[in-house]
Amino acid sequence: MSWLHEQTTEFLTRIREAKSLDVYPYFRQFQDVGPRVTIDGRQYINFTSNDYLGLSQDPRLIRAAKRGASEYGTGLGSSRVQATTDRHVLLEKKLAEWFGYPACAVFTTGYQSLVGLISTFAEAESTMILDQLSHASILDGTFMAKGRYGQKLETRFFKHNSVRGVKRILKNSTYDKRLLMIEGVYSLDGDIAPLDEFVKLAKEHNTPVMVDDAHGMGTLGATGRGILEHFNLQPSDVDFLVGTFSKSFGGVGGFVLGNEELIEYMKNSARSFVFSASLPVPIVEAMITSLDIMANDLSYLRRLKENEQMMRDGLRTLGFDLGTSNTHIMPLVLRDESKTVEFGAWLRALGVIMIPILYPAVGRGEERLRCNITAAHTKQDIGVTLEIVEYVGKKLGFIPRAAKSPHSTRERALWAGREVVRRAGELRPRHLQQASRFVTQKAERLVKQVVEGEQPEWTPEEEMNVRRHFHRKNVIITGGSSGIGRALALQLAELGANLFLIARRQEPLEEVRKELDIVRQHEDQVCEVFSADISDREAIETTINEICERHHPDFLFNNAGIAYANYLDETKPEVFEDMMRVNYLGTVWATRATLPFFKKRQRGHVVNVSSIAGLIGIFGYAAYAPSKFAVMGFSDVLRNEVTAQNIRVSVVLPPDTDTPQLAAENRLKPPETKALAGTSGLLDPKDVARSILNGVAAERYHIVPGLNNKFPYWAAHWVPGLMRWFLDKEIVSFQRKKDNP
Ligand code: PMP
Repeated sequence: MSWLHEQTTEFLTRIREAKSLDVYPYFRQFQDVGPRVTIDGRQYINFTSNDYLGLSQDPRLIRAAKRGASEYGTGLGSSRVQATTDRHVLLEKKLAEWFGYPACAVFTTGYQSLVGLISTFAEAESTMILDQLSHASILDGTFMAKGRYGQKLETRFFKHNSVRGVKRILKNSTYDKRLLMIEGVYSLDGDIAPLDEFVKLAKEHNTPVMVDDAHGMGTLGATGRGILEHFNLQPSDVDFLVGTFSKSFGGVGGFVLGNEELIEYMKNSARSFVFSASLPVPIVEAMITSLDIMANDLSYLRRLKENEQMMRDGLRTLGFDLGTSNTHIMPLVLRDESKTVEFGAWLRALGVIMIPILYPAVGRGEERLRCNITAAHTKQDIGVTLEIVEYVGKKLGFIPRAAKSPHSTRERALWAGREVVRRAGELRPRHLQQASRFVTQKAERLVKQVVEGEQPEWTPEEEMNVRRHFHRKNVIITGGSSGIGRALALQLAELGANLFLIARRQEPLEEVRKELDIVRQHEDQVCEVFSADISDREAIETTINEICERHHPDFLFNNAGIAYANYLDETKPEVFEDMMRVNYLGTVWATRATLPFFKKRQRGHVVNVSSIAGLIGIFGYAAYAPSKFAVMGFSDVLRNEVTAQNIRVSVVLPPDTDTPQLAAENRLKPPETKALAGTSGLLDPKDVARSILNGVAAERYHIVPGLNNKFPYWAAHWVPGLMRWFLDKEIVSFQRKKDNP
């Protein structure tokens, strides 16, 4: 064993011990990224990310990165000195413009920006003044310079955020050449530097100021420009402003803003700029887009602030110690190493990730759990987390047993409902106006699709939501070989889901499998097809067991079904039986077979396809409607039975959709039925599928695709009496006209 091993042994023994107890919190492998992450197939609410605005998963950034890669490739093969593209220059120009500085230099990481900047400007016989809680990047830049100049460079630390401390050093530093270095927001404490006072002092002592605003950019100030905007300071007040793309920007890289000459000098001398490779263009492109979004859409910043407020109120009322935090970074300061690790492990067991921050990252007695709020968290994420944190806090004795959050348990379980009611309450005065705008926008989009033959496209927000929801998830679809099932399968494949399609006939299934192969997103994405009759209980159970034993299911779409319309007295008895067997029992058998697997992991979502005819019986559907009523009733019971186990249920009520099923149904459809359906148009299965996926991602119970379908749904659901009166009247008047043409 060499001396290299000797120094690692004790350290690694502690890590091994923690791993064997399953409390080692680091290097866990995420299978997806965002406010919710999957680790070993289980989903967690994640509070460890610095992606404060949630932009790293935004489809617009992803598209920009793809464009960058296809035009410039994945790497530049050299440093900025030999490998600067026009896109780097554009990004620097845009950053300088937005932050109001004359010039900017983009580095490959934030760490390199700080190390490069500090080691460039530190000189012999100068004094570097830094906060005792400075980030490693500032420390390393300073140490590097110290290595070069030894005792000829003075380094002076002041007590965290202490104005008096800075004043003292400014007055008695050994040298007159000084650089004051501070951070906008401190990443482990979440507190803001009193920059206005520091700037005033520095001016009085003729000392340049450098601010690392890694955590303030995108999150502070009325428009997210950061700490300067927060204090109403001007760019001329701060000589160097440093940022990183690895937080609010949702990427990687760093930049320094400053005066033209100083930046030019640094670009030619900073070793981390000159001797390290350029930031690849896919990231440069994504960061240009990210800056555009931050500069033009304040809704991300607003959501971050709302979430921050909700979490802070909740944690404070429970009685947690949040240290000096006054931003979206609000650590739970627990001040005990082993209890902090234990608290983190409990949270993880209950589905929440907050990483323990221990010595030496913080001082002994300052141990804490990192809790970073982002704009991408939902109100439910925060509500549920408060409940879990309260439970663990009481269990481990951090908060009194009697501590009460502002909301009772039952109330918090209803977070989603409360949120909707709150929003609806706010909307009421402008309700009609809002609704009509929504209808017009949607109608315009549909018209455009029909007239211009345009492919239905997700809005960026929709795409971000559904991608997060379905990416790498295991989805079983019954009846996936045609119509809505096929459209669902194709869209899910594009979103990166693993698919398992079950339908009766092998041939069309094989066709769909070929199509899926073309749109699949990643190498290990699974797309399998199984031929089985949905009404054959044993066949369905065997097929679903076979799938679920190899892949834990996340979603079951009970989409298989048949349709039939005819006069009651012309409908043969076996049609009544077939409808019940396929539409109703098919749904029951597939659900019963999948449910044990959902229950095992306390997670899953059953999506049953019913119909508007499952809410109110309509002329001609004597055999069909009752089978869809049965699906509605079954879904209500199912939802009631499984909600407590974190299993979701949705029912879809699609309108007439352009599918082979409808073509068959139309052959015998009575003219009265046609007359009733006459005004409600025909939807494209792609649109229906998209609307279903949006509804499932939003965890909606009733999903009603199609604009024209909304009113019949609303009426049948809320005023069935009125709906019946309307239908009867329509039929009577139709038949009168038919009899007396
Ligand atoms: N400064 C601060 C305050 C930081 O928190 C970080 C990242 N943790 C950096 C600089 C370095 O940024 P990057 O991740 O881009 O290297």
